[in-house]
Amino acid sequence: MSATPPGVVKIDTNENPLGPCAEAAESMRNIVAGGGRYMFHLAGEFQAVLAEQEGLPAGYVQAYPGSSMPLHWSVLAFTSPSRPLVTAEPAYEAPEGVARFVGARVIRVPLTKDWAHDVRAMAEADAAAGLIYVCNPNNPTGTLTSRGDIEFLLANKPAGAVVLLDEAYIHFAGEKGCSDLVAAGKDLVLLRTFSKLYGMAGLRAGAALARPDLLARIRAYGNTWVPVTSMVGAMASLKARGLVAERRKITTDTREDVFSFLEKNKIRYIPSVSNHFLVDVGRPGRQIASALRGEGVLVGRTWPSLPTHVRVTIGTPQEMNRFKQAFLKVMG
Ligand code: PLP
Repeated sequence: MSATPPGVVKIDTNENPLGPCAEAAESMRNIVAGGGRYMFHLAGEFQAVLAEQEGLPAGYVQAYPGSSMPLHWSVLAFTSPSRPLVTAEPAYEAPEGVARFVGARVIRVPLTKDWAHDVRAMAEADAAAGLIYVCNPNNPTGTLTSRGDIEFLLANKPAGAVVLLDEAYIHFAGEKGCSDLVAAGKDLVLLRTFSKLYGMAGLRAGAALARPDLLARIRAYGNTWVPVTSMVGAMASLKARGLVAERRKITTDTREDVFSFLEKNKIRYIPSVSNHFLVDVGRPGRQIASALRGEGVLVGRTWPSLPTHVRVTIGTPQEMNRFKQAFLKVMG
């Protein structure tokens, strides 16, 4: 993969163009000189701050360098050739890739017509299911599955199955998230990341929230050492007052502006509450993504069940203006 050339608009991988907040950046700069030490205690401090904010007992939070690692390891821990993965279509594909690697069957359950997870069908998909993956809001659609539906899934899934609830984008949606269901001792592993709203994708911080016995099964796959920079940056982000609401408003305002533009031009899109959305380009999505690339605008991928939809990340207002101009041009 090569670096993005200067001047190119990169709205393809759901990053946050704002980057880390000022408090996080300062804390990371300050710790660099001491970076010759592992400073394992920082993960403990980070876990305590997040546990306190989420109302969880000690031992229910495990730090990771991003959320990909606990996501992959959860699939390793809870699926096998005899324990399938149940996921959605369209969904974030990472869990499916790991399940195929271990020889676990993958059952894709289409989203409902409102773009929510079809929790009834997911609960019944296979009595031997090992892991049921729900991303809320979903990637790529940016749409929500209700709290009631998540509770239904936990109450009606096969007894041996664990629910993996990926809340990578929850901060953009203005929803509280489901950490209280972790506190209640459900068969639930919840993932959080600092790669999205907190703007730390390249700095790598994330966490798994779950009962200690579930966390222990995920931890079995390797060490959980985290960069000292990411731990202080994540803690500073969690403590920055008003940060989530402020950044949510910035993203929401830009997203709504792009949606008005699409409506004005009679272009269909899936109404997202996240920092990305699917736009229906009415022809193979890859053609438009490739034409946009020619205009210096990198957009995301398409999904097999929605081949005419392209995923677009919300960038800065200036970046989205470049997108709008290029989009009208390539759409003819
Ligand atoms: N989960 C979802 C739904 C994502 O979209 C992503 C990244 O795009 C991740 C997890 C992994 O992110 P990270 O490892 O940076 O936390």
